Amino acid sequence: LAASSFFRFDNSYARDLPGLYVPWKPAQVPAPRLLFLNRPLAEELGLDPASLLGDEGAAIFAGNTVPQGAEPLAQAYAGHQFGGFSPQLGDGRALLLGEILDRQGRRRDIAFKGSGRTPFSRGGDGKAAVGPMLREVLISEAMHSLGIPTTRALAVAGTGEPVYREKVLPGAVLTRVASSHLRVGTFQFFAARGETGKLRQLAEYAIARHDPDLADTPGRYLALLGRVAQRQAALIAQWMNVGFIHGVMNTDNMTISGETIDYGPCAFMEAYDPGAVFSSIDHGGRYAYGNQPLIAQWNLARLAEALLPLMVEDESEEAADRAVAQASAVIDSFSGLHQGFLLRGQRAKLGLGEAAQGSDAADAALANDWLALLHAQGVDFTLGWRRLADAAAGDDPALRALFPDAQALDAWLARWRARCASDGAVSADARAGRMRSANPWIIPRNHRVEEALQAASDQGDLAPFERLLSALRRPHEEKPEHAPYAAPAPAAVTAGYQTF
Ligand code: AMP
Ligand code: MG
Ligand code: MG
Repeated sequence: LAASSFFRFDNSYARDLPGLYVPWKPAQVPAPRLLFLNRPLAEELGLDPASLLGDEGAAIFAGNTVPQGAEPLAQAYAGHQFGGFSPQLGDGRALLLGEILDRQGRRRDIAFKGSGRTPFSRGGDGKAAVGPMLREVLISEAMHSLGIPTTRALAVAGTGEPVYREKVLPGAVLTRVASSHLRVGTFQFFAARGETGKLRQLAEYAIARHDPDLADTPGRYLALLGRVAQRQAALIAQWMNVGFIHGVMNTDNMTISGETIDYGPCAFMEAYDPGAVFSSIDHGGRYAYGNQPLIAQWNLARLAEALLPLMVEDESEEAADRAVAQASAVIDSFSGLHQGFLLRGQRAKLGLGEAAQGSDAADAALANDWLALLHAQGVDFTLGWRRLADAAAGDDPALRALFPDAQALDAWLARWRARCASDGAVSADARAGRMRSANPWIIPRNHRVEEALQAASDQGDLAPFERLLSALRRPHEEKPEHAPYAAPAPAAVTAGYQTF
């Protein structure tokens, strides 16, 4: 059987939503070469990895061979970028090939990024470079391994074609897998054009795909907004608890599914700092680490506005007011929802059980004071948490060594230990074990990521990329051979680091 027949496409987007996309073809490239294949993901999708490793796999993942059953298309979407509305963005260098049902029966999009110009390309070349595409692999696999909902990378193929950025770079195509590519900006596109019929079709499609229990229920558009708010509140809490900075939370980069999407200028924080920004284009710090929950809420308000025409039951003024009030209530609930998810994650990181009623404020204060301590003393976020787990097992020299002023730490530790004791009979080792599974040892540190990408992009040497990837896939295990990936960057490297 040819590899191309292994994808069993079932293309609901192409079938159900004519007029919401443009059928299109990937560009032909001169020299396809498979640089990365995600074997565990391929297996999850019911594909045979071995059949994709040869020339045919390279031709498919570079875009030269459109696999049987694919119906490639460019999706239309709009978006607020850094607060300003662009009525037409769309897949300018991406294509949806189609969908397949994975081994568990879940519908997954198979999409290209970097497969050439489309009708939505505007001034862009439609291309992508090897370095940024391998970067997406590293960060998204790290996120997945940390248990954070994310789009994933199935493959990266080199194209043998130069891509012109600040310098000439080797070109590549990434194959991305997502539970869908529906974005806040997809709804904005049709809302802004006043195309209520298409907007409704899109909303029904989104409900059928992501919230099928809401199908045909009264009030389902408002309920959809509520579900997206839930998923995003949970997602952003997970980001915050691992120190992830997305970097470009435009509304076209926020999914309806609640998966992290678009690994452009993202980065993990090293020393804890709520103001941390890595993207050179984010001049005002709009998308700084500490702003992410507020930005998510702002983006949801834009989704609410887009859905409003569907939520209004009749043409009366009362109906319009009612819809606005209901949508506003969902938006207003976001901060509380997010706080709840954040605290749940922080309790796990602190090794605390679900607290007795009424102790939320005290536990949140304990977590916040810990973060304030990390901030004041410039402590590495990941290692600070990880060594706290060791301290739970009674071993605290490594924790203390991270703090220039151990006195402030001691005062906090005393409070934390008192709170732990109130949990009742949990052994020190059990608590430490639980904490280690909530506090990774390995994150994609910027200097290690850069080093791996440089070797791949400049010398065609993928070995550092592969070693880093395998460490990132076991983030909670302390393996001696992974130690180089756990250490913070030398201060000189972190100081001016920019992703973009
Ligand atoms: P992003 O910042 O990655 O979310 O992209 C925003 C918009 O710019 C989307 O419509 C992309 O498809 C488009 N875009 C980004 N890079 C390119 C490129 N090199 N060529 C064409 N379109 C692009
Ligand atoms: Mg994007
Ligand atoms: Mg992007």
